[in-house]
Amino acid sequence: MHGKENDADSEMEELQLQGRMRSIKQKFIVLSGKGGVGKSTVAANLAVSLALKGKKTGLLDVDLHGPSIPGLLGIKDKRILTDANGNITPLDVSENLKVVSVGLLLDSHKDAVIWRGPMKYGVIRQFLKDVEWGDLDYLVIDSPPGTGDEPLSVAQLVGFNSAAVIVTTPQMIAIDDVRRGISFCEKLDIPVAGIIENMSGFSCPHCNELSNLFGSGGGEKLAEECKVPFLGKIPITPEIASGGDKGQTFVKEYSQTAAAKAFDKIVDSLISKTEKNDNQIKETKQMKIAIPTAAKKLCMHFGHCEEFALIDVDSTAKKILKTEYVVPPPHEPGLLPKWLHEKGANVIVAGGMGQRAQNLFAENNIIVVTGAIGEAPEDIALAYLNKTLQTGSNTCDH
Ligand code: ADP
Repeated sequence: MHGKENDADSEMEELQLQGRMRSIKQKFIVLSGKGGVGKSTVAANLAVSLALKGKKTGLLDVDLHGPSIPGLLGIKDKRILTDANGNITPLDVSENLKVVSVGLLLDSHKDAVIWRGPMKYGVIRQFLKDVEWGDLDYLVIDSPPGTGDEPLSVAQLVGFNSAAVIVTTPQMIAIDDVRRGISFCEKLDIPVAGIIENMSGFSCPHCNELSNLFGSGGGEKLAEECKVPFLGKIPITPEIASGGDKGQTFVKEYSQTAAAKAFDKIVDSLISKTEKNDNQIKETKQMKIAIPTAAKKLCMHFGHCEEFALIDVDSTAKKILKTEYVVPPPHEPGLLPKWLHEKGANVIVAGGMGQRAQNLFAENNIIVVTGAIGEAPEDIALAYLNKTLQTGSNTCDH
């Protein structure tokens, strides 16, 4: 009994998480192969640049080892609050920029943050589920360093419309870490928005001239080799390390430096990539919604349904174009997501579905909605398009 209640609770949480993630148009997960390469610095400056360009932006710091975003934005002494239901209201730090950092939840920013493995996953998940961002154009996530469990859980939890921005330094040692970072993204099927080479050359604070103290260009070569975009180089710039003031950070305060200009160019390219791909990474105008059925009604047993209703819709006009019923192949774990992908489905609306199956659908680029309530598949599809679909708990895990 207890277990069932827990299951229902966690399914509700899953729905809440999916709902939150859906109201964010694009998420950038900032990753690095290891610590100290400037991942947090890059995340903070990307977020501030996006906000300065008029984009509604959130910056989420889930680097549990050393939440450095509050220091970078000059907001170390601020705190964010949670309400009685556990919802977290982000800190408005400047026009268009909201910030949540694990460092802003602690009693003192000097507190050591020691999280155990499973707890870390829970904390990251909770952050993504509980923060009330509202509608955002972009969410920049400063993830924990490395390619271990923690960045992996961030990547898995944020789901659709996300891309990785990988930060490296020019040294070969860091380059190997990036290789791991890229293969990590490939495994999880996360598109790599590109590589940024940080601390690339030294930009003289007096004359802005660049000199390559520690080498330069390794990131670019690697991007070419791994066939991922190269976004740009940020030179070593003493002012970057000086900390931010009133949520503005370096890019705003030192906009004339070579590094700030480099950030500006990188952000422009990220925006244009995102907006160009908008139709691909978001729900497309023409979509196919799959709904498991029995006797032409929604069937709770997704894995053992009689037929799938495959409904072609125009998501802009919110109209049904065509409905077709198809009999699925005999049940075999992992087969349905592939089969539905081959049939062209973009969305599956189901009563219940286990987490593993949900992950497999995500890997096949199919949006999963669980806990659907209703009977006629076409009514369910229309309700989905009109965002009026009633959902309850995930009814069946098998
Ligand atoms: P990470 O998040 O990868 O651990 P940080 O962003 O905390 O790295 O940066 C590590 C240190 O390097 C910080 O002191 C930061 O101010 C400094 N730093 C980062 N990028 C630059 C740069 N381009 N020029 C000068 N200092 C930098």
